[in-house]
Amino acid sequence: MKPVIALVGRPNVGKSTLFNRLTKTRDAIVADFAGLTRDRHYGNGKQGKHEYIVIDTGGFEPDATSGIYKEMAKQTRQAVAEADVVVFVVDARGGLSAQDHDIAKYLRKLGKPCILVANKAEGMKEGAQLVEFFELGLGEVFPISAAHGQGIRSLVDVALEPLHLPDPDEEEAEQEPGVVKLAVAGRPNVGKSTLINTWLGEERLVAFDMPGTTRDAISVPFERKGQKFELIDTAGLRRKGQVFEAIEKFSVVKTLQAIESASVVLLLIDAIQGVTDQDAHIAGYILESGRAVVVAINKWDAVDEYQRELVKRSIETRLGFLKFAALHLISAQKRQGLGPVWDSIAQAHKAANCKMPTPVLTRLLLEAVQFQTPKKTGMYRPKLRYAHQGGMNPPIIVVHGNSLEHVTEAYKRFLEGRFRKEFNLIGTPLRIEMKSSS
Ligand code: GDP
Ligand code: GDP
Repeated sequence: MKPVIALVGRPNVGKSTLFNRLTKTRDAIVADFAGLTRDRHYGNGKQGKHEYIVIDTGGFEPDATSGIYKEMAKQTRQAVAEADVVVFVVDARGGLSAQDHDIAKYLRKLGKPCILVANKAEGMKEGAQLVEFFELGLGEVFPISAAHGQGIRSLVDVALEPLHLPDPDEEEAEQEPGVVKLAVAGRPNVGKSTLINTWLGEERLVAFDMPGTTRDAISVPFERKGQKFELIDTAGLRRKGQVFEAIEKFSVVKTLQAIESASVVLLLIDAIQGVTDQDAHIAGYILESGRAVVVAINKWDAVDEYQRELVKRSIETRLGFLKFAALHLISAQKRQGLGPVWDSIAQAHKAANCKMPTPVLTRLLLEAVQFQTPKKTGMYRPKLRYAHQGGMNPPIIVVHGNSLEHVTEAYKRFLEGRFRKEFNLIGTPLRIEMKSSS
């Protein structure tokens, strides 16, 4: 599981600026779960080998008792509770405020790794001006400048250090290859817990022992028709003796982490609501994470013909980018349509791990070119020569040739369609990379 860094501090100290810095290291996937989270933002970052999730918590008043501040305080507390490390940002220029003391008091009680950062410290001489921040009782103060990008790298090092993260290369190798890691993702109330409880209630799902699950995340291993699965928690799974049950406790962090650690994500949509912004955000995150995906519209029992048509149309218009995924109409409550979902999950997993031999890829590529040559742009006509597989899960096809930077998006989609058809790639994203040798 990716570690989570929460940025906490009063308004205007520079948290958003720092957030942007921390997530810029990679194509920032900023999953903005609008509505659910008010001022919270989630993003991915990477430094060296280590990837992390950052949460920007907006402004924090720990003792707020009413209105929007109370709500924000509640959300910040949840973010802090879910974080592995808290970065407390203060303003090196503005100095200490009463609010800073309140936040510090709250953080000291928490007993979590907490790093005190004095932002806006560009051009300041170290030492003198920062002494007052020791009053907060949080130890050393790290001067940074989010706006100028100073001290950010060592801040990340310091933040991740106490977590003793394993080397991601070694972790990768440890994974059991035959196990499908499955996450059920979706907004609150779409029926995740109901579905999981229905699954876990079936005797056919026999739990088996699997050692070494990741940092305090719950996951449930089980077997179905000879295929091993590991269900990664997103619905607040709780162990009751030998059995598990799902209790609803929606957490964006858990959802993001589960998507990242899954090999296949089952995205649940509520038929009564249709596709909402939040559904689209979650779907976008799944796609950008490169995960295989199966879409199921739940509560199909509860909607009439008219609504069914509306939902189908909203899938086409709002989730068009998941066209490669299988779509199922189900009722978790009435146990309808669930069998075929398993088949699609297995199919998506197989597709994501598909092996594509170089001779076959190259033959397909050349056939495609013969069928339709890429357009000439200006002086250049791209010359596509051969292709090989550059990765799995998601599959990556690397095309080699000349002037490939002039290959249009439309042409890439045409190629994608051909490759997908040949290898029956249903349920997995497919990436096509162009590598010009001149
Ligand atoms: P937030 O409310 O804590 O998220 O703060 P913002 O990131 O929105 O920043 C508040 C203000 O501080 C903005 O005007 C920023 O441009 C400014 N700011 C942020 N980081 C720095 C910094 O490193 N140095 C200086 N001088 N200003 C900064
Ligand atoms: P979660 O927040 O995604 O875990 O959603 P829950 O499993 O708690 O379900 C939310 C509500 O939807 C509950 O009242 C369920 O009884 C109801 N629900 C779940 N699945 C179905 C279904 O297939 N059909 C109908 N009609 N209601 C369902």
